[in-house]
Amino acid sequence: MSKLRILEVASEAAPFARTGGLGDVVGALPKTFAKLGHEVKVFIPRYGAISGTEHKLRKIEQKLSLRAFGQSIPFTLEQHHDSRTKVDHYFVGNPAYFDRTSYYVDPVTGKDFPDNDDRFIFFCRAVLESVKRLNWRPDVIHLHDWQASPIPAFLKSTYARDEFFRSARTVLTIHNLGYQGIFAADRFKRLELPDEMFYAMTGAFEFFGKVNFLKGGLMLADKLTTVSPQYAREIQSTSEFGCGLEGVLAERKADLVGILNGVDYTTWSPSRDKKIPYRYTVANLSGKRKDKVELMQFARLPLRDSAPLIGMISRLTDQKGWDLLEEASEKLFAMNIQMVVLGTGDQKYVGLLKRIEQKYPDKLRAYFAFDDALAHRIEAAADIFLMPSRWEPCGLNQLYSLKYGTVPVVRKVGGLADTVVDFDSKKQTGTGFVFDEYDADAMLEAVGRAVAAFARKRTWTKIVKAGMERDFSWESSAKRYLELFERIAAS
Ligand code: ADP
Repeated sequence: MSKLRILEVASEAAPFARTGGLGDVVGALPKTFAKLGHEVKVFIPRYGAISGTEHKLRKIEQKLSLRAFGQSIPFTLEQHHDSRTKVDHYFVGNPAYFDRTSYYVDPVTGKDFPDNDDRFIFFCRAVLESVKRLNWRPDVIHLHDWQASPIPAFLKSTYARDEFFRSARTVLTIHNLGYQGIFAADRFKRLELPDEMFYAMTGAFEFFGKVNFLKGGLMLADKLTTVSPQYAREIQSTSEFGCGLEGVLAERKADLVGILNGVDYTTWSPSRDKKIPYRYTVANLSGKRKDKVELMQFARLPLRDSAPLIGMISRLTDQKGWDLLEEASEKLFAMNIQMVVLGTGDQKYVGLLKRIEQKYPDKLRAYFAFDDALAHRIEAAADIFLMPSRWEPCGLNQLYSLKYGTVPVVRKVGGLADTVVDFDSKKQTGTGFVFDEYDADAMLEAVGRAVAAFARKRTWTKIVKAGMERDFSWESSAKRYLELFERIAAS
C-alpha cells in the first residue's frame, strides 16, 4: 500500500476537544493511520477551552486571512506535533467564532449558536486555505459530520480550477444523522456557492425548503461511510433512522459503507488506565471490586454485595433512551439494583433523574457534568452498563464496558447490535443482554435477566470474561478505511 496523505477535518478531536464519540474517533483513528505508515494532519477549530500551554501549541502562521461573507477575515493557525504518534494537529483560530464557553450550543439559551453556519463555513474554508499555505497536498480529505460537509462543494466550485486540489478525493463519515446542520434557506448565500447547488441540477443542499449542510456533503463527497454496518443499513431503509435523508443515502448505496468504530485501548483499558484507583486484568479482577467500593463511597451509596451496580454515561438527549428509564423507573428501582449516572444535556432529563434520586436515595446517584475521570471510574466500578438507545450509530461506551468487564445491557440497534452478543443461558455464551423493541418492558426484561445472572457468580464471571476478551482495537477498522482511501486515491 502506498503512503497516503490524509487530511482529517472535524469539529472535535480528543484530547483537545470532545463532547462525545466523534471526538474519541477523530482522536484515535489518525493515530492508527500514522502507525500504519501514512501521513496525517488533523484540523479542528481553536476553541477557547483548548489550553495552548497545556497542549504546547505552536503558532505557525501569524497573519492569515480569507475572504468570506464579503469581507477579509483573519485567522490563526497553531500546531501540535506528537512525536510519538507522528500525528500533526492544526487549530484554526478566530476568537469571534471559536472563543466561546461551549462548542455548539449557547449555554444561556440552551439553543445552537445562531451563527453555527458561518462558524463552520469559515472553518472549512480556512482548512483548505491552510493546507495550501502549508503546501501540503492531501490525497484524501476525510470529513466528519455536518461541520465539515461543505468541503466537497467548495472543491467542486470555489476551488474547481485550483490545480492544488486536483487529485484530492473526499470521504464523508456520518457519526450521527440526528445532527445535520440545517439552516434557513436564505443562509445558503453564506456558502457563496453557485445557486444550482441549492436548487436545480444536483440540488445538493436543499432540504424541505431549508439548507442542509450534511446533505450537501452526502450528495457531493466521493465516498460515504458511517460508523457501523447495522447503522449503514438502518439509515437507508426508514425515515426513523434516516432522519429525512434515507432517500439520498439509498441513492448513494454503492458509495456508502459501514465501518465499525474501534477503541483506543491506550486510553480505555483497565490494566493501564491511570484515571481509575485500582487497575485490573481479566486474569485478576480483584481491582474491579475495589473500584466499586471506592465509587460507592464517593457516591455515598450503601454497598450491597447482592445488588449489581448499573452505570450509565451519556448525553441526556432523546436519542439515549432516558424516556424508557422514566417509564420503567418504578419497576426498575423495585429490583435489587443500584445505579450511578453521569450525563449532561436536556433539563427535562436532569429533572427526571433528580426526582428519581430523591425517591431512591440509597439506589441512585446522578452527576450532571462532563467529567472524563469520573466516566472512567464508573466504567471500572459498575457491574452492568445500560444503553437503551432509540438509535445508536456505533456507541463507544458498550465497547469500553466490555473491556472493563462491565456487562452491557443494550437495545438491538445500530452499532449496539453489531457489538454485543445476547447471553444464551442454555449454551452459556454471549457478552451482554440485548432487547429488541424500544419499549420499557423489553428493557426491564433484559435488565431482569442481567440481575438474575449476576446472582450466579460462575455464570456472571463467564460473561464478564467473554466481554473482556473481545477485541475492538482500531487496527482492523483503520485498514478498511485505508482500503477505501486507496481505491479512490488511485482512481
Ligand atoms: P455519542 O457520541 O452519541 O455521545 P458514544 O457512545 O459514541 O455516544 O460516545 C460517548 C463518549 O462520550 C464516550 O467516550 C463517553 O464516555 C463520553 N461521555 C458522554 N457523556 C459524558 C459525560 N457526561 N462525562 C464524561 N464523558 C462523557
